[in-house]
Amino acid sequence: MDLSQLTSELEKIGAEAVQLAQGASSTQDIDDIKQNILGKKGRLTKVLRGMGQLPKDERPQVGQAANKVRDTIGEAVAIAESRIEHEARDRLLNVDIDMTLPTALSDLSPMGSHGVGALHPIVRTSEMILSVLDGLGFRRETGPQVEHDFYNFESLNFPADHPARDMQDTFFIEDDVILRTHTSPIQIRALMAQGEPPIRVSGYGAVFRHDQDNTHSPMFHQIEGLWIDQETSFAHLKGVMNTFLKELFGEQLRTRFRPSFFPFTEPSAEVDMSCFQCDGTGVAANRTLNNEHGQCKVCRGTGWVEILGCGMVDPNVINGVGLSSDVYRGFAFGVGVERVAMLRYGIAHIKDFYESDVRFLSQFVGQG
Ligand SMILES: [Zn+2]
Repeated sequence: MDLSQLTSELEKIGAEAVQLAQGASSTQDIDDIKQNILGKKGRLTKVLRGMGQLPKDERPQVGQAANKVRDTIGEAVAIAESRIEHEARDRLLNVDIDMTLPTALSDLSPMGSHGVGALHPIVRTSEMILSVLDGLGFRRETGPQVEHDFYNFESLNFPADHPARDMQDTFFIEDDVILRTHTSPIQIRALMAQGEPPIRVSGYGAVFRHDQDNTHSPMFHQIEGLWIDQETSFAHLKGVMNTFLKELFGEQLRTRFRPSFFPFTEPSAEVDMSCFQCDGTGVAANRTLNNEHGQCKVCRGTGWVEILGCGMVDPNVINGVGLSSDVYRGFAFGVGVERVAMLRYGIAHIKDFYESDVRFLSQFVGQG
């Protein structure tokens, strides 16, 4: 073949390939074009082999023509591939589906006519509390449930053999390895990991104590907050607690602080809030919410509800993690998630949360 024959052969192959690509309707068609024309034994390759018979000065012209044809074919193939892909997707989407038909399980599920699940009330309540703390600038932290004595007790100013340890009946794994009795070890770990304050962290998780009655369970959940900086005072603690509780229970809420004791805070306080059911009057306006003595059931006529514990971090704790209590001060607080959930939802027995009874759990579907 001479030069003109070769170039016209190339153009012919190109035109045919473009036509084939335009008519292709499957990825197999595309693969065939690639193999039969562009492949090692393809037509284009074969023609180019004939280039060797041409005089040297003519070869570049054929090379250029061949590149042009190759580009044209490549473009046509790419367009065809994209078209075939779109056609396949359209076919999938255009299947007739009646979205209003009931599912096979819809009438059997106690969780609602569409069998939709819902968050557990403990998860829901935890998320609500944590998101309030997020808004106050606390960073979320977690920690292990099986904890070393150091993080759970010693670093929190519970010396070995000190009677304060009796406040938290503990499950032991080994002598100095336990199931954590509170979420405070999370604070210690966060402090030690970060080093120099300011630090503002919230800790959440399951805690374990040998304790069981209507309002106590061997496993329950706590949320704690810790704020350490150079100028932190009890006034900050009160401000944060008031804001925190108002966000959770409403703007009308009033608080009072009662002196208390925790090994890791000094001074320590229990915080009571005005009863949200009777607005602190001791008698609910809706009489069905009162007991047989005519007193509000939630606060038993006192007008106050105990809600959380808090205090200024004990200097021993600050010094114990390698910081100086001459420079840094802070406060900490902790709230029981089950307690908040029981108050919010009017639940009398803590074990209801853990029995996985869908009749109980389905009450919370759609609730805030
Ligand atoms: Zn009340």
